[in-house]
Amino acid sequence: MEISGAVCWKVGEAVKIEEIQVDPPKANEVRLKMLSSSICHTDISSIQGTPMIQFYPLALGHEGVGVVESVGNTVKSMKEGDMVIPTYIGECQECENCISGKSNLCLTYPRRFTGLMSDNTSRMSCRGQRLCHLFSCATWSEYTVVDVNYLVKIDPSMNPAHASFISCGFSTGYGAAWKEARVKKGSSVTVFGLGAVELGGSGKTIMLGVGAEPYVSLGVLPIISGRTLKGSVLGGLKSISDLPIIADKCIKQEFPLEELFTHEVQLTNIEEAFELLKQPNCVKVVIKI
Ligand SMILES: [Zn+2]
Ligand SMILES: [Zn+2]
Repeated sequence: MEISGAVCWKVGEAVKIEEIQVDPPKANEVRLKMLSSSICHTDISSIQGTPMIQFYPLALGHEGVGVVESVGNTVKSMKEGDMVIPTYIGECQECENCISGKSNLCLTYPRRFTGLMSDNTSRMSCRGQRLCHLFSCATWSEYTVVDVNYLVKIDPSMNPAHASFISCGFSTGYGAAWKEARVKKGSSVTVFGLGAVELGGSGKTIMLGVGAEPYVSLGVLPIISGRTLKGSVLGGLKSISDLPIIADKCIKQEFPLEELFTHEVQLTNIEEAFELLKQPNCVKVVIKI
């Protein structure tokens, strides 16, 4: 099918809305009609250049929520009409890391930095060129194809913008407080930064704001004096075990997610979003698809 989606042709180049050919899903894949998407700082890094992303042209976006349009012939856990969020890390619940209880870095369904599906091919092309899918999600598109093992089903009553926030930014902050810093009620903490990640951990987490720099300097003296530096992916959350807990809390309105939702743009006007993000009152930009 021909759809519209956001493409970055080369690192540092302006994002363009292009006509994209999206193939049907293969056996273990699902094609989604995207409902809503949002912007996370990693998207900006992938456009401006980061050692993590080395492949272009790139179909952008990794936060979002969609409805299942069609499924591959071995997919049993999802059907047409299910509401789902793509995740860039899976959870097989069987590998050494999944059963360790100490890591969310599933060895069976790891983060994919190649921009390709598990068979090392792509489901998107544009002007005769294969497109890579950012983190195998490519959510700034009207339709996308995702491996079923990187999808989480959610309650269709959930606000689509909020569902999009929990697919990365908000959950990363909340998970960092809950799973990594293990902050308890009454803890004194400092939060660096005022994005959705930091506000997701508001009042509860200790975070180190490292910005876009690939390295941080850390002296020996603080280390031998007991300081620690902790990093995590998706705030240490497991996609199958933990994201549904966060989704449930969202439905019960335990988080003020509406406060993060400061701006909205149409997919066709995506360049407006990059300007909005420079404004001090901008936390989350929702992309209406
Ligand atoms: Zn993100
Ligand atoms: Zn695993």
